[in-house]
Amino acid sequence: MKAQGEHAQFDVIVLGAGAAGLFCAAVAAARGRRVLVLEKANKVGKKILMSGGGRCNFTNYHVTAENFLSGNPHFCKAALSRYTQWDFIALVESHGIPYEERKHGQLFCENSAADILAMLLEECRKFDVTIEVRRDVRGVVPLRPGAKESSAATTAVGRYRVEYAQGTAAGAMGKHAACHSLVVATGALSIPTLGGSGMGYEIAAQFSLPLVERRAGLVPFMFSDTMKSLCERLSGVALEVEISCRGQSFTENLLFTHRGVSGPAILQISNYWQPGDAVTVNLLPALNAFQWLLEAKRAQGNILLRTLLQRHLPKALVSELQALWWPREAGRRLADFGDRRLRELAGQLGGWQLKPSATEGYRTAEVTLGGVDTSAISSKTMESSVHAGLYFIGEVLDVTGHLGGYNFQWAWSSAFSAGQVV
Ligand SMILES: Cc1cc2nc3c(=O)[nH]c(=O)nc-3n(C[C@H](O)[C@H](O)[C@H](O)COP(=O)(O)OP(=O)(O)OC[C@H]3O[C@@H](n4cnc5c(N)ncnc54)[C@H](O)[C@@H]3O)c2cc1C
Repeated sequence: MKAQGEHAQFDVIVLGAGAAGLFCAAVAAARGRRVLVLEKANKVGKKILMSGGGRCNFTNYHVTAENFLSGNPHFCKAALSRYTQWDFIALVESHGIPYEERKHGQLFCENSAADILAMLLEECRKFDVTIEVRRDVRGVVPLRPGAKESSAATTAVGRYRVEYAQGTAAGAMGKHAACHSLVVATGALSIPTLGGSGMGYEIAAQFSLPLVERRAGLVPFMFSDTMKSLCERLSGVALEVEISCRGQSFTENLLFTHRGVSGPAILQISNYWQPGDAVTVNLLPALNAFQWLLEAKRAQGNILLRTLLQRHLPKALVSELQALWWPREAGRRLADFGDRRLRELAGQLGGWQLKPSATEGYRTAEVTLGGVDTSAISSKTMESSVHAGLYFIGEVLDVTGHLGGYNFQWAWSSAFSAGQVV
């Protein structure tokens, strides 16, 4: 038992037992550091368990800085090269976890995301990390501000005191613990029921670190115009498209839902979309639509446009497109369409403009764009450039990956960089 007012002392306290926090704790503890992890939820690693449809897309064979969005696109490079996808794959293999490659180099567990969480917990157990759940971190107090780094007093009490509530909301007890290195790994705002929290931003603001505006990423779109009812009618229909916005393009599946549009194509482009933007959808990404229509006109002039399009597009979608783009020519043979009209229709098929009214927001977003501004953080160690011993890792930082295992790779890489030096 500690005397009243005495701190529980650790070399390192990690806030948040998600992907980044657990991995950083294990890496630091493997170096002989005494590490405490404080987790608000009743269980650790909730997002890991839900990730990749329960199979956790834990990394990707092809990781480059171009797969990440950040105010400073170079920031992620040092960490990604210090701890690569190959390093994490080697760890997964050393634990005998079966995994498989899906398209675009995405790696998933063959059995369950629980394998990745069990691996992280085993690494923590091996090196005696203390993990405490139901610890809601409420604040951080810098100890002896102004004391010299090397002073005996600072060395004795640590640099930071963490204040947290222990137990359930009804019967929470105020507690605190002190450390020399404090690692903020509280993640971001997405999906509050899986631990989404603004605590990391509050700590950053407390220490006057700049923040980049946050918004939901990897998130479905909604509509308020005629698209709303069209999506409802097409709910469940999926097709491969090329989608573009603000100079970025992805060729992936688009899925109509009763709320709007989703699927990998939409999630990817949502990272680039800003309110008011239209997104451009090429419904026939594998074809030169105009050439194809012209050739069909010559070779099969009696066919209806609707019938022809059904060879490449879902029937229900073609009916909706006909009502939008050629309702009065619905019964016309392809041979009776002028070439100019076919060019116009090809333009619509290859460049359907959709104007979302909003995204579904943090309730369903897989990630949060923005966060702690990387200009205030060392790209080699993840330490604040002003506050010694204060580190930020994972999604709380202004680094967001594309869909495809990149967000977990960022969690592992940034966690490793900090874990090596805390
Ligand atoms: C449904 C879903 C599926 C996903 N699938 C994938 C995928 O397959 N591949 C991929 O690469 N990415 C995926 N992601 C994104 C990925 O899960 C995150 O980028 C990653 O988990 C971020 O790791 P983190 O450790 O920074 O944050 P988190 O994993 O969110 O961990 C933060 C932890 O901090 C805790 N915390 C918050 N506030 C406090 C507080 N005040 N006190 C104490 N603890 C606190 C939270 O409870 C949480 O456990 C998915 C996300 C979601 C929501």
